[in-house]
Amino acid sequence: MHKAIVVPKAGGPEILRYEDVDLPVPGPNELLVKVAATGVNFIDTYQRSGVYPMKYPFIPGSEAAGTVVQAGLDVAAFSDGDRVATAEGGGAYSEYMLLDASKALPVPRGVSSEVAAALPLQGMTAHYLCNSTYPVQSGETVLTHAGAGGVGLLLTQLLKAKGATVITTVSTDEKEALAAAAGADHVLRYDGFADRVRELTDGRGVDVVFDGVGKATFDGSLSSLRPRGMMVLFGGASGQVPPFDIQRLNALGSLYLTRPTIRDYLLSAEERQWRARELFEMVEAGTLDVRIGATYPLAEAARAHEDLEGRKTTGKVLLVP
Ligand code: NDP
Repeated sequence: MHKAIVVPKAGGPEILRYEDVDLPVPGPNELLVKVAATGVNFIDTYQRSGVYPMKYPFIPGSEAAGTVVQAGLDVAAFSDGDRVATAEGGGAYSEYMLLDASKALPVPRGVSSEVAAALPLQGMTAHYLCNSTYPVQSGETVLTHAGAGGVGLLLTQLLKAKGATVITTVSTDEKEALAAAAGADHVLRYDGFADRVRELTDGRGVDVVFDGVGKATFDGSLSSLRPRGMMVLFGGASGQVPPFDIQRLNALGSLYLTRPTIRDYLLSAEERQWRARELFEMVEAGTLDVRIGATYPLAEAARAHEDLEGRKTTGKVLLVP
């Protein structure tokens, strides 16, 4: 047996149970990983609350880092004792997890297990958004929301490395200082942000908006774009955006709208390893700071969810068994 967090049915953070569960046995092409740290992500809250339909009961969590303790048949790339991380596991809120070997990322020597658990999901999201969804060019101006959040801090740093001007939004003074330290050129509050973006861009609007806040910011984000600009809605921290009249894209300036998800940007081993390698290399080179804003014992996963949903966190939230 080992300890894990179980979601028995859809509900609030209080629904999470810390329980003894059976130790899983790796099948062919699977790894049994002793978890060193688990990454908490917004998607975990959508799955817990029922925003994304799930089969109950289940052990949440797709992001973790740890050590291989048993490699299943046919696994050639990893062996016992190797350090691995993933953004695409299942059941990561636990002491031990099974991991499809094709979804395992080798952790370089110079990267701690905490950072390896903190980076994959939010890091590869930031990476695909600015390299693949909208390949940002030097000199472009970008609006990205929640600039002190997990994705926000990483995305801002990647955008600055590309030579973009970054405008971001935050809700508190503490978050403003963090977003500015990550390199954001202009840190705004949400109230009236679209008007402020127009002023900052001399009336033109930004080239692209990366919006993970969703319901509360969507309309303002559309109004912040230049003609033919790109609206990238990648999440709904404030709630999901209701059905949308496509005609509005015409009225607002022949805009583009996309709603990407990380699954479609990790389509092959090459794509997954490319994104992870670039991020880990930046960490090792000291050009990407991964802020771990809070670490909770695994047993207190409910508190981690409350704080994440309650806008109390900055950077990455980790659980440790
Ligand atoms: P964050 O660390 O960014 O936390 C969310 C932040 O959103 C909060 O800290 C808060 O910052 C801001 N926010 C604004 N309004 C609200 C609200 N009403 N309730 C809660 N938070 C609010 O989380 P992540 O970095 O993990 O994720 C950011 C977004 O990216 C999420 O929507 C997530 O679903 C999405 N995502 C999408 C992926 C994809 O592939 N599509 C992959 C990974 C994440 P502040 O207080 O400053 O406003």
